[in-house]
Amino acid sequence: MFPRLYRLELNKDAVVADRISFENAAAVFSWSWSTQPRWRTNDELVILTDSIKQHKFSCNTFSSWSWLHCNNGIFTTESLLHRAMQNKLPVRVELDRKGIDLHSTRCPVCDADIETLHHTLLSCSLSIDIWDKIRRWWNYNNLNFSCVSDLSKSANPHLNTTLGASIWQTVVWVTCYFIWINRNDRVFSKKSLSSAKIVLNIQSKSFEWISSRWKKGSLDWLTWISNPNRFDANHTKVGIG
Ligand SMILES: [Zn+2]
Repeated sequence: MFPRLYRLELNKDAVVADRISFENAAAVFSWSWSTQPRWRTNDELVILTDSIKQHKFSCNTFSSWSWLHCNNGIFTTESLLHRAMQNKLPVRVELDRKGIDLHSTRCPVCDADIETLHHTLLSCSLSIDIWDKIRRWWNYNNLNFSCVSDLSKSANPHLNTTLGASIWQTVVWVTCYFIWINRNDRVFSKKSLSSAKIVLNIQSKSFEWISSRWKKGSLDWLTWISNPNRFDANHTKVGIG
């Protein structure tokens, strides 16, 4: 809600309890800004502190991150993709359209083009490299997305069953998810991984999600990374959701 303040926050992973304590029921703030908020950033600070003062906090529970775009607050790749389809992910062009001040609307990863959703997920040099590695991993030579909406209806010719189709869709979602996470790490923490490391994360996260819904022992890691098309779809009934 407060992008200018967030930019000044020194610890991007700070939780509420790091910044607010209570003395005799009065909120005491311990901010950690890189520079003192001024002008419009200070306006944000006033709104933030006012809204905090109207809240009741429980001091005995852990605070945690919540994904506001789902009713239950739980982040899923599905909700991310849903927002992606509706062009609602906060890429720089969309933020600029909403009147949020940005130094630049260029892609924070490659700096070679305006950052649109299409660019981020599909045409950024890093994303192209990642999709290329996914293509080789699955031996899927014709894998090609011409637009963002293609991502939600992608089919893999090696996987003919309904189960296979949902496994492939999971891989596509997880890939978009890690591209997006890497983009955010670049923006907020100035960190970025190599495409090889990102693909390894995609392989292990999709393995974790799929095998947790899989009959024990029918999907092993080495098969998954070396020849994922060889999974046995016959004796399992799983729902990937
Ligand atoms: Zn880029």
